[in-house]
Amino acid sequence: MTGAIHPIAGNFNVPLPANEPVHDYAPGSPEADALLAEIKRLSSMTQDIPLQIGGEVIHTERTQPVVCPHDHRLVLGNLSLAEESHVHRAIEAALEARHSWARMPWWERITIFLRAAELITGKYRDEVNAATMLNQSKTFHQAEIDGVCELADLIRFNAHYAAEIYNRQPQAVQGGENNYLDQRGLEGFVLAVSPFNFTNIAGQLPMTAAMMGNTVVWKPSEKSALSTDVIRRIYEEAGLPPGVINTVHGDGAMVSDICLAHPEFAGMAFVGSTQVFRELWRKTADHIDSYRSYPRLVGETGGKNAVLAHPSADPQAVKTGLTRGAFEFQGQKCSAASRAYVARSVWKQIRDEYAAQVDGLVVGDVTDHRTFLGAVIDETAYDRLTDAIERAQQLDSHTLIAGGTSDKGVGYFVRPTVFESTDPTAFTFETEFFGPLLVVHVFEDDQWEETLRLADRTSPYGLTCSVYATDRSAIGQALDILRDTSGYLAINDKPAGMSIGKQQFAGSRASGTNDKIGSPLALQRWVSGRFIKENLAPDTDYRYPYMGD
Ligand code: NAD
Repeated sequence: MTGAIHPIAGNFNVPLPANEPVHDYAPGSPEADALLAEIKRLSSMTQDIPLQIGGEVIHTERTQPVVCPHDHRLVLGNLSLAEESHVHRAIEAALEARHSWARMPWWERITIFLRAAELITGKYRDEVNAATMLNQSKTFHQAEIDGVCELADLIRFNAHYAAEIYNRQPQAVQGGENNYLDQRGLEGFVLAVSPFNFTNIAGQLPMTAAMMGNTVVWKPSEKSALSTDVIRRIYEEAGLPPGVINTVHGDGAMVSDICLAHPEFAGMAFVGSTQVFRELWRKTADHIDSYRSYPRLVGETGGKNAVLAHPSADPQAVKTGLTRGAFEFQGQKCSAASRAYVARSVWKQIRDEYAAQVDGLVVGDVTDHRTFLGAVIDETAYDRLTDAIERAQQLDSHTLIAGGTSDKGVGYFVRPTVFESTDPTAFTFETEFFGPLLVVHVFEDDQWEETLRLADRTSPYGLTCSVYATDRSAIGQALDILRDTSGYLAINDKPAGMSIGKQQFAGSRASGTNDKIGSPLALQRWVSGRFIKENLAPDTDYRYPYMGD
């Protein structure tokens, strides 16, 4: 008999939690002052950010700087980079930890993560926020709703959904039988690959799989390594046993190539670009004959999210939706609005005011309370965006109505930019640029249906979408024609921004496998059921009654 002893008898309930309250960080408030002090502390040092394999913290010789996007001379960390041997060790550590982790009662696994949620919202709230502000260039509000509130909500709601999954049992004792469902973690290890843009996604990917009894090799984004390292330490402090989540920084292709080639690769939790997910899917297919099981591939990827405003829409609501939806966090949310279709009568009322509003948005250092947009994540993103803006400017169909400038002297700053376009088939309506760039097509008021069809077929993605209208038949028509256009549709609200427990999030088409985060489905993917039937009164005669004597 190995493993811990669990002398507890009982059925465990996890009630529906409440959302973590969002702090305001108003200028001069004690909470803002405390956060600014933490930012100062983190800015004054260069942290060594290690790998962690089988519980062992490893600093490698090869490192890479982690910089602050709005002040790129500020080096926040030296990131240890894994060699191939580290990846092999991480897989071994995950497989070694799997036996006892998978057999630990689910409520104990959950308790570890619930404790992590308390650390995130309590002792480490300022550090999570400060790291997210410095490393991803998020404002006070954007950092708070991401790394603290959404990650804590995801843990707490996941705990509730996990309990639901484990408690959903067949009729236990019926007609001399005992039936039950053993919700096993996957046989093997899970690879989690996370993007730079949300601290909560980085924390969520390995956590969700681990909660359901899996052990994980986690490859976080090198661009947001400072914030993910805070989460790694929190999980450890909360009591996560060694080997359950193994953090391996480095070249994504190298790490995933080794993981995907392993016969015990059991699943992948990926969030990032469509192109990388497709590459990983292809590589998985190449190894299909060598796997012990069919790997579960879960991926949430890119978007090209549309806002559609009907003539009956409230113009002020459209204006606000377009500003917040397109430009919060510099448009670097997968769900950000990046193309809009606005009825001429509505556009006439808001065009100039909207352009002035966008030109008035403060872009700069996120520790300044007036800032609405920080910098884009790095020079590659900066170049991609400035190139797209330049190309759009060369099109006769495109008129620049706001922004259009950029400056990378101190930080990677790109002004929020809006083009009005007479050509809704231009590249600007199709391609994801992942930055503060919005293109608007103005349609005639009687062209609602045609415009809905146009929006549906223009881009390969299917993530989010917004419809602004007060006319119920126009809303109905949109819900019908846009049925396959997105996995998340907002009516009279921006396409980005969700609250765990209230909304569920994920997309279809080229945007992902649509395994709704904030729902039991996101957890269900990480278990593989074993159905158990016990016969309480076994038959002792092979003959059936129809056979007579
Ligand atoms: P990315 O695809 O560049 O990187 C994501 C992760 O993959 C990182 O950890 C990276 O190091 C790794 N990676 C990069 N190239 C790789 C390769 N060849 N092989 C294996 N791994 C590799 O994405 P990003 O820039 O970090 O994030 C932005 C993208 O993520 C956007 O496309 C955005 O729409 C998408 N995103 C989607 C959602 C969603 O829920 N649908 C949420 C957040 C971000």
